[in-house]
Amino acid sequence: MTQAYPLIIDGMSVSTDNHLDVINPADGRTFALCPAGTSADLDRAVAAARRAFPGWAATPDADRKAAVNALADILDANAGELAELITREQGKTLSGLGSQWELGGAAAWTRYTAALDLPVEYIQDDAQGRVALYRKPIGVVASITPWNFPVMIAIWHIMPALRAGNTVVIKPSPYTPIATLRMVELMQQALPPGVLNAVAGSDDLGRAISSHPDIDKIVFTGSTRTGKHVMASASDSLKRLTLELGGNDAAIVLPDVDLDSAVEKLFWGAFINNGQVCAAIKRLYVHDSIYDELCDRLLDYARNVKTGDGMSPDSQLGTVQNKMQFERVKMLVEAAKASGARVLCGGAPIEGDGLFYPVTLLADVKEGMAIVDEEQFGPALPIIRYTDLDDAVARANDNPNGLGGSVWSSDTDKAVAIASRLECGSAWINNHAMVRPDAPFGGVKQSGIGVEFGKLGLAEFTTVQVIHQ
Ligand code: NAD
Repeated sequence: MTQAYPLIIDGMSVSTDNHLDVINPADGRTFALCPAGTSADLDRAVAAARRAFPGWAATPDADRKAAVNALADILDANAGELAELITREQGKTLSGLGSQWELGGAAAWTRYTAALDLPVEYIQDDAQGRVALYRKPIGVVASITPWNFPVMIAIWHIMPALRAGNTVVIKPSPYTPIATLRMVELMQQALPPGVLNAVAGSDDLGRAISSHPDIDKIVFTGSTRTGKHVMASASDSLKRLTLELGGNDAAIVLPDVDLDSAVEKLFWGAFINNGQVCAAIKRLYVHDSIYDELCDRLLDYARNVKTGDGMSPDSQLGTVQNKMQFERVKMLVEAAKASGARVLCGGAPIEGDGLFYPVTLLADVKEGMAIVDEEQFGPALPIIRYTDLDDAVARANDNPNGLGGSVWSSDTDKAVAIASRLECGSAWINNHAMVRPDAPFGGVKQSGIGVEFGKLGLAEFTTVQVIHQ
C-alpha cells in the first residue's frame, strides 16, 4: 500500500482525511501520499509556533546552538532514508551531484549556521553613555519551498530562523513534500513541541500563509511570479520577507579562456540538477573566435553524460521534476528550433513513462527567442555568439532577472572588472553557482529581496532594537 505521510504540528504527527498523490517522475507512478492540509491545519500549526515562541526565544544561546547541531546529527543519521525519498519524489540521482550530495550539504549548512553569532553591537560606549544594538527574533516564520532542492532549501530557511530564536512553520512544494515532512518529523526529537512545524497541501496553502495574520515573516524560494503574489498579500500585516526568486544567469566566455579547465565546469554550471537550479548558467555568451571550438568541446563532454533513473548508479542526471516543467522545456526548445536554433545534441524528449529529457545544447540562438529571454529551468542550454565584450555585458544585463552571473577568462583582474559590471547578486570567475554557507546569496532586480547565508542572512531573521542609555 502507498504510504501516507502526516503533517507535523506541535510536536505531533497529524494524519489528514484527504491526500495528494506524489508522483515519481522516473516512472509516472504515485509513490507516496502527501497530507492535504487545510487552512484549519495551518491555523493550528501557526498557533503552536506562536505558543512555542517565547520559550524558544528565551532559550540560552548555547542551548539553541546545541539544538541546531543536534538537527545536523539527525540529518546525518537519516541521510540514507531522506536521500532516497528525495530521489523518488524529485527525480534527481542518488549519487554524484544528487540527493546524497544534497543531504551532505544540508548537514554542513546546518552546522555552519549553528556556529554563527550576532553579538550586541555598541554604537557608543563611553563616559557619556551607551547605545547598544540588539538583534531580536521576529516571531513566527513561515517557509515556502520549491521542488528543485527540497531538503537543502528547507534547511536554508529553517536553520537561521531557529538559530536566531524564531519558531517555524514550513510548507514544501506539493510536488516534493515527502522528504521535508519526514525530516521535520525526525527533528522533533531535538526540539520542544511547536518550535518546528510542517504543513503540506496544494498551492492554496501557500496563499493562506501569505495572508495569515499571525505569521511575522515569510522566507520564500520559488518563481518570481509567485514571489510577487506573496509580497502583495504579505503587505496586509507588513510581514518581513526574504524572497529568493527566479534567475536567468548569463556566463560570458572571453577569447583567452582556458578551455581545458573550463569545459567541464561550464557544463555542470548549466546542467547540475538538470538545469533546475535558480543560479545555473541559463545563457552562455561565447566570443566568436572560440565559439565553434567551445560548442564542439561541450558536445564531446555531453556525449558521455548519462541521463537515466536516479536510483541507478550509472545515471549522472535524472528526470525533469514535473510534467508542467517538462512540457515547458519541450515547448521552449521547439520554439527555438523553429526560429533557427541549431541542435548540437538532444532536442526532443526521451520516449517512455518517465520525464526524461536529454542534455540539449542549442547553437546559433539569440535574444528574442524565449529560451534566451526567459528562465528555462531545465536541461537545455542556449549558446549565444558575441563579438564585442561591452555588447555582451549589455545583453547579459538586459533581463529582468539578476541572480547570478560568471566571467570566464585567464586574466582574473580583467574578469573581476567585467563581473563587477554584471547586474546580479553573485558573480563567479571561471566557475558558476558555487554557493557557500558563509557568503551572502540573493538576487537583485526581479530575482529577489534580501539575502541568505552568513551573518547577513542570519540577520534577516531578526529585528533590530537600539537601546540608548
Ligand atoms: P513556484 O513559485 O511555483 O512554487 C514555489 C512554492 O510556492 C511552492 O511551495 C508552491 O506550493 C508555493 N505557492 C504557489 N502559489 C503560491 C501562492 N500564490 N502563494 C504562496 N505560495 C504559493 O516555484 P517552483 O516551480 O516550485 O520552483 C521553481 C522556481 O523557483 C524557479 O523560478 C527558480 O528559479 C526558483 N528558485 C529560486 C531559488 C533562489 O534561491 N533564488 C532557488 C530555487 C528555485
